[in-house]
Amino acid sequence: MQTRYDAIVIGAGPAGSSAAILLAQAGWSVAILEKQCYPRRKVCGECIAASNLPLLEELGVGTMFDVLAGPELRHVELMCADHSIRAELPPQSHGRHRWGRALGRDRFDALLLDRARESGATVLQPWEAHAVRGRPGAFQCDAGTVGSDTHAVLTARVLIAAHGSWELAPMADGAQRRLQRASDLFAFKANFHEAALADGLLPILAFPGGYGGMVVSNSGMTTLACCIRRDRLTACRKEMRGRRAGDAVEVYLKQSCAGVRHALAGARRQGAWLSVGPIRPGIRMPDDGGDVFLVGNAAGEAHPIIGEGISMAMQSSWLLCERLIADGATILAGGAQRQIQRGYADAWRRNFAPRIHLAALFSHLAMRPAMASVLLPVLRCWPAALTHAARLSGKVKRAVDPQTCRAAALP
Ligand SMILES: Cc1cc2nc3c(=O)[nH]c(=O)nc-3n(C[C@H](O)[C@H](O)[C@H](O)COP(=O)(O)OP(=O)(O)OC[C@H]3O[C@@H](n4cnc5c(N)ncnc54)[C@H](O)[C@@H]3O)c2cc1C
Repeated sequence: MQTRYDAIVIGAGPAGSSAAILLAQAGWSVAILEKQCYPRRKVCGECIAASNLPLLEELGVGTMFDVLAGPELRHVELMCADHSIRAELPPQSHGRHRWGRALGRDRFDALLLDRARESGATVLQPWEAHAVRGRPGAFQCDAGTVGSDTHAVLTARVLIAAHGSWELAPMADGAQRRLQRASDLFAFKANFHEAALADGLLPILAFPGGYGGMVVSNSGMTTLACCIRRDRLTACRKEMRGRRAGDAVEVYLKQSCAGVRHALAGARRQGAWLSVGPIRPGIRMPDDGGDVFLVGNAAGEAHPIIGEGISMAMQSSWLLCERLIADGATILAGGAQRQIQRGYADAWRRNFAPRIHLAALFSHLAMRPAMASVLLPVLRCWPAALTHAARLSGKVKRAVDPQTCRAAALP
């Protein structure tokens, strides 16, 4: 098997697959490692913001996305206890795609990874990266197939860490992950058939100790995803002794939110609740960018209340790859990586740090009933504040120009 590549990408979520496609399309030899078999379900609200849709076209999956995805998301509705306040979602001011849409991660991630393969990337799956050594220009990655004894040491000039943030990864600090706090957030997701949710509506759920969202995704399926604090989850499970965590969360959501009760009244759940956690929203990108290029959640993660993680994942890969591709010949001859790392880290922070801070603010407001009782009367008088908040959170702001990665393929 081939073991030397120009670039190794660890993780085939939206960040990793986007990077693999862009580099492979520019003529780089790329290996992408993914430890799970696809298609796989994933904890996610599954909304893909309008700002990303031109990027999907440029990656070569726009047509399939148009065919598969759920209806355009035109309205947002804040649902809190028995209250609901509806407002318009901001449209993109130009281009074919004015509103975001939802697509199950089983479909979306597989679509992108298939495209990476078609673009010439070597897809190693199910392969897990166990350790990374080396420095910019000369990396080694110890990897092996999941469930068998095949191991290999892969080498590359460039290493892109796109391993997300909710599982132990080769670079994760295990000790930090073992600390337990009452405020730790656990994320849950389930899909439902025949839910009573209007097409094109994006409800945001605010409830004591957590927040969430619902959306009609592909094939008319409704996705419900939420985050709940550890202390609230423990209390729910105590009250609902004998129930699994996801089932207890479902009961709690129905009790605390009339909108969820109504939407799920006649619905059938498809499959089990999925859960992950604790999730740790925040910025992980080192000031100087570090040695390995971090993209997507590996670089930083916004509270999922703004539903911008996929955008940030794809757009961070774009910000990185446009730089790598523009300087491809120099990098592959062994130079310029530190300089690129610094430029990328600056651009990443400029584009995504404000969203991460704003999402933290929104999530803290949503989880506290006292705050919600102050905010609700204001929002009732001024629902357009929700539209404005969606705009600020990045729904129609694209950090990158979709055509930048076309410009400079390797000679
Ligand atoms: C409750 C909730 C709701 C959300 N809702 C939305 C939403 O509606 N819209 C939105 O845009 N975002 C949403 N998000 C955020 C979004 O899911 C993430 O930001 C996004 O998945 C990040 O993409 P990524 O490619 O960085 O990482 P991931 O999607 O996590 O992909 C990382 C991949 O790396 C693989 N991997 C990890 N370690 C290794 C290893 N050592 N070797 C090989 N492979 C490895 C994993 O198996 C995984 O497939 C939500 C998140 C949560 C928790």
